[in-house]
Amino acid sequence: PVTPIYVVTPTYTRLVQKAELVRLSQTLLHVKGLHWIVVEDAPARTPLVSTLLAQSGLSFTHLHVETPPELQRQESDPTWLRPRGVEQRNRALQWLRENRQPSDPGVVYFADDDNTYSLRLFEEMRSTRRVAVWPVGLVGGVRVERPLVEGGRVVGFRAGWRPTRPFALDMAGFAVALPLLLATPRARFDPRAERGFLESSLLSALVSLDQLEPKADNCTKVLVWHTRTEKPKMKQEELLGPEPNIEV
Ligand code: UDP
Ligand code: MN
Repeated sequence: PVTPIYVVTPTYTRLVQKAELVRLSQTLLHVKGLHWIVVEDAPARTPLVSTLLAQSGLSFTHLHVETPPELQRQESDPTWLRPRGVEQRNRALQWLRENRQPSDPGVVYFADDDNTYSLRLFEEMRSTRRVAVWPVGLVGGVRVERPLVEGGRVVGFRAGWRPTRPFALDMAGFAVALPLLLATPRARFDPRAERGFLESSLLSALVSLDQLEPKADNCTKVLVWHTRTEKPKMKQEELLGPEPNIEV
């Protein structure tokens, strides 16, 4: 039997949400043994996401938790000020702790709804024993951020910004073994962590640098890209008036 992969995706209502979730769900359909944990940043589960999941053909769990107002990013705040999707990822950790046992096999991956994932990435992470790491393309102001590997071990990070962070990794750049996560109940994302230190807040509780398992040919291949979708401009929408009953 294949080791299950739990993919955790925070998501929130905006114009491109359905497009992002359709694209991601159709990538995930190709992955064996996958369970998708979708956590809406909302006061309740929305019909759009509920219907999409029901029709996706995927094994899934649908959760929600609203980011508390004091932690929400304001339109005027720069995007780097606050990490996003934090409460949602922690909600998924809580679900795993309540619904799985430390003896259950599995790998947990935090996949934002807007990134681009190669199917090869999922086969790389499936063998994770503690924490596996790999490069991420188009992130942090550089073409690629990646763990630096010497003699098969991670010795540091190539990152454009504060490479001396305890774990200078993007959220898309690591996966955690389920047994390790469940054996470490205090391991969670710190909602007060400065942006850039969120990944470190979880990983510091789980492993040391020398325990990281480099994947993707010793971290020389890019299998995930931190793509971001442009916010569509809706200038002509008012002109036409509302189109009723069409979900976009
Ligand atoms: N997200 C969320 N609530 C928000 C903003 C973002 O749940 O208010 C989710 C979003 O859908 C994505 C993840 O958190 O899955 C990371 O957000 P985003 O992609 O905007 O971050 P960035 O690309 O800037 O790192
Ligand atoms: Mn993103």
